[in-house]
Amino acid sequence: MFDKVLIANRGEVALRIHRACREMGIKTVAVHSTADSDAMHVRLADQAVCIGPPPARDSYLNKAAVLSAATITNADAVHPGYGFLSENADFADMVAEHHMTFIGPEPEHIRRMGDKIAAREAAKEAGLPVVPGSEGALQDEGEALAMADEIGYPVLLKAASGGGGKGMKVVRGPNELASAYRTTRSEAEAAFGNPALYLEKYLEAPRHIEIQVMADNYGNVIHLGERDCSLQRKHQKVVEEGPSPALNADQRAAIGDLAREAAASLGYSSLGTMEFLYEDGKFYFIEMNTRLQVEHPVTEMISGVDLVREQIRLAAGAPLEYGQESVNLCGHAIECRINAENPHTFAPSPGRVTEYHAPGGLGVRVDSALYSGYRIPPTYDSMIAKLIVHGNGRNECLMRLRRALEEFVVEGVQTTIPLHMDLLTAPDFVNGVYDIHWLEKYVEAAQA
Ligand code: ADP
Repeated sequence: MFDKVLIANRGEVALRIHRACREMGIKTVAVHSTADSDAMHVRLADQAVCIGPPPARDSYLNKAAVLSAATITNADAVHPGYGFLSENADFADMVAEHHMTFIGPEPEHIRRMGDKIAAREAAKEAGLPVVPGSEGALQDEGEALAMADEIGYPVLLKAASGGGGKGMKVVRGPNELASAYRTTRSEAEAAFGNPALYLEKYLEAPRHIEIQVMADNYGNVIHLGERDCSLQRKHQKVVEEGPSPALNADQRAAIGDLAREAAASLGYSSLGTMEFLYEDGKFYFIEMNTRLQVEHPVTEMISGVDLVREQIRLAAGAPLEYGQESVNLCGHAIECRINAENPHTFAPSPGRVTEYHAPGGLGVRVDSALYSGYRIPPTYDSMIAKLIVHGNGRNECLMRLRRALEEFVVEGVQTTIPLHMDLLTAPDFVNGVYDIHWLEKYVEAAQA
């Protein structure tokens, strides 16, 4: 097992990784920008190295700075968390070249799944159904038009290298296609350095359902059930839950087995998530994430598995300790992403947290790096906490969520806690009847 892990991240996920390492007897190294000198992950780690100024490209995304920090502190592995360098195959290669272990899959898997066109091909080869769409990258507007005619409008233009809900455009008819093609292409070039686009049928009312898989280096793969992440704003997840209110036990087992078999046939190892859209009883693969996900606690609460611990063990070459038959999913869990934002306009609200009190009690978990007096820098993602509740069933979970949100105190900045409170009064949410467009419409109606 590793002796020392460098955590190449910040905020709640840096803390999450630190906690897993601590419980495994592994020493930790925090890296931080000058904006994060007072951050909780820096305070708790065994060692800390400042790697640059506030902009992420000069610190958390600076591969050479992160590697230097790992080298001078004698770390034997690097955990990238999510975001930043977590899906950067070149960085994973560099970590290996420096005789350290990248805590994640093989770089070839990161590379293949990071290109959504290649990922679609890989998924098809592995026997997964994909959304009807183009084969390979679109050559020009003419091909896009012909393809859209064939599959039928509306269609979604997607950047091969897109991520974080960016690089996607809905096209409702042929007259919109040419200009959408040009703008999405130049936006993709500017944002991701890769103009390649492909096209998919735009599904009007699907749910986003993803399967957590876990694979070792010896061909053993298990799945840990699904998370329903349909509550989204701007293609970004806001609330996640498991199990999905939309699936019965047979559907759950079928998609879980399909994802597990696909991961096995890809020769995948480490944690991974296969994301699907689900509409009219059918699943369509959209992408695979080759890293720890923000919403991983939902799975941890219903499976009792410490996913970060497993991820570290697998990277160290340990085999999976049990098979699929030992996976026992229990109860229901819901996660709310709490952002430092105005709950109506979603304008970021950085600044000093004058008072902080996290809820607790049975079935309540808060993953956050906040503390009273902490100053939230304006430079990074606005997510400041994840509130996760676990209960025997969905109803118990909803009651618990309400009381936990009531207990949550974050003063000095605005947060999206009121949005989550409001959601609990929406009958569709309470009844579990929502698709990926539901939250957007709900928010628009509230703003009107
Ligand atoms: P990203 O990598 O940016 O997260 P994804 O491909 O995972 O992009 O898609 C993010 C979200 O965009 C999905 O959860 C879904 O809400 C929406 N989306 C993606 N593909 C489609 C599609 N073909 N039809 C409708 N919505 C889609």
